[in-house]
Amino acid sequence: MKRTDYCGRIDRRFLDQTVTIAGWVHRRRDHGGVIFIDLRDREGLVQVVSDPDRVQTFATAEKLRNEYCIRVTGLVRPRPEGTVNVSLPSGEIEVLAHEIEILNVAATPPFQLDDENLSETVRLQHRVIDLRRPQMQNNLRLRYRAAMSARRYLDALGFVDIETPFLYKSTPEGAREFLVPSRVHHGQFYALPQSPQLFKQMLMVAGFDRYYQVVKCFRDEDNRADRQPEFTQIDIETSFLDELEIREMMEGLVRAMFREALDTELPEFPIMTFADAMRDYGSDKPDLRIPLRLTELTDVAKTVDFKVFRAAADLANGRVAALRVPNGGTMTRKQIDDYAPFVAVYGARGLAWIKVNDASKPNDQGLQSPIVKFLSEPTLRTILERTGAQSGDVIFFGADRENVVNDAMGALRAKVGHDNGLAQPGWKPLWVVDFPMFEYNEDAGTWGARHHPFTAPKDGHEDWFATDPGRALAKAYDVVLNGWEIGGGSVRIHRADVQAKVFAALQISPDDQRRKFGFLLDALSYGAPPHGGIAFGLDRLVALMAGQESIRDVIAFPKTQRQQDLLVDAPTPVSEQQLRDLHILVRTSDPAKHAGATTSG
Ligand code: ASP
Repeated sequence: MKRTDYCGRIDRRFLDQTVTIAGWVHRRRDHGGVIFIDLRDREGLVQVVSDPDRVQTFATAEKLRNEYCIRVTGLVRPRPEGTVNVSLPSGEIEVLAHEIEILNVAATPPFQLDDENLSETVRLQHRVIDLRRPQMQNNLRLRYRAAMSARRYLDALGFVDIETPFLYKSTPEGAREFLVPSRVHHGQFYALPQSPQLFKQMLMVAGFDRYYQVVKCFRDEDNRADRQPEFTQIDIETSFLDELEIREMMEGLVRAMFREALDTELPEFPIMTFADAMRDYGSDKPDLRIPLRLTELTDVAKTVDFKVFRAAADLANGRVAALRVPNGGTMTRKQIDDYAPFVAVYGARGLAWIKVNDASKPNDQGLQSPIVKFLSEPTLRTILERTGAQSGDVIFFGADRENVVNDAMGALRAKVGHDNGLAQPGWKPLWVVDFPMFEYNEDAGTWGARHHPFTAPKDGHEDWFATDPGRALAKAYDVVLNGWEIGGGSVRIHRADVQAKVFAALQISPDDQRRKFGFLLDALSYGAPPHGGIAFGLDRLVALMAGQESIRDVIAFPKTQRQQDLLVDAPTPVSEQQLRDLHILVRTSDPAKHAGATTSG
């Protein structure tokens, strides 16, 4: 089955040569007497011409339909004057068919490959055809180039790719786990790893010094545009490097990936503390393409009578913050009001705003707003000064518990910025550092690990564990790019006694510590080296590189929002015998639902 080159590579260099190419019929046009075929393979399109002089070849060309798989041998010749297509590498030439062989016919495809308005459901049901589309071909090859460049970078620095198990043990690491029943051990389960975290740490204890893996991780979370139940990390761990050294090395990795896969030189990665990020952007993954910041007003709000501000400012964990939108005055009243339901999703109970018509008059003369009458002129002047507001601006306000204000105003900042065309083009990477060790779960009334329980505290910060856990900071860091967290990691705890202290702060009892993490504590007790690492989300990185909004567009066979694979139709019920072999009895309130496949929707 010889072919001389890919369709998409035939260009003027091949003029007057006879070539053999193979691929799929992208389009066939019958121009009364001459048939044109756009033949497609993974490298692109080339135009094939069949004229009636070659009777048999022409007869075959007449039978061709979209997506037939064919092979063509023919002569490369210049396209006639006026028909050159400059947008295609092969646009100056065409292949005059001497021979056409139909390798396989194709059923009528469910959609045209160049249809831009396909629903995602249709695309995922017919993923094989969807993947033939040039955009998807490009996305997956970009993904490959990005992963290869990471491998080359890490290999050159002495990192070793070591596989770790998928059939792992249930250990709480944050998200819900997928469980796999054991047939051999009645009533017992493996868990699919949320990440190879503890294996990579044990590989450091085992002396491998530098480890990496491009590896699937599994988290049973609700899917969003940037989440999948199985996703891929570039997972990395190294010994004997401190936080700064690890960050520098990993920044080099991201740079190398962009350079090699995308031919792009990333700008400087500024370093921002978690506290600064929350204060100025309300988010630990700020999109720095948007030149807007929050302004702190909690102290001012403590002095006012206006109840909405005052009550929030007086809360122990309250915050009042403003977002100034330069020239926001061009927004209509309706546009402004429409942001209230937007912030409500983040728990905000309203969205106060002031339209600054004349910044020199901090009263109802110069300011237009339902709240101006509740605020004194000096307070309004302070607000204008602090936010730097000019005539023509709009100021939004958030007043609530700190995390509600941060979530709502952080999201509003991004939304208003994009809606008003304020986002600058290009790449804005940064490091976010000095994360808190713990975060308080208000529903459960307990402290949880902010990153994961194996993250080292900043030197001396273990002293806060017992008295004020919220103050303890971690040697943890995230890489953020254009508002997406693309990687996160930490220096690890390498001493069993410190690890036990963290478990204690997380209220994991000594018994539970042994049962769940005895293997780690044992490993740490055998001279564990100082170590740390990071994991990058390959799907997110490539989605950003490809300019795709959803990571599903850079994964060959992704799941839907409802965790279904529409192509192979998974999940599905299994037979009674399979369940018996696994000693599993399915509880269901609706037996009919269990028996019938619930695969659509
Ligand atoms: N295992 C961590 C995660 O998946 C990353 C790391 O700390 O290296 O988020």
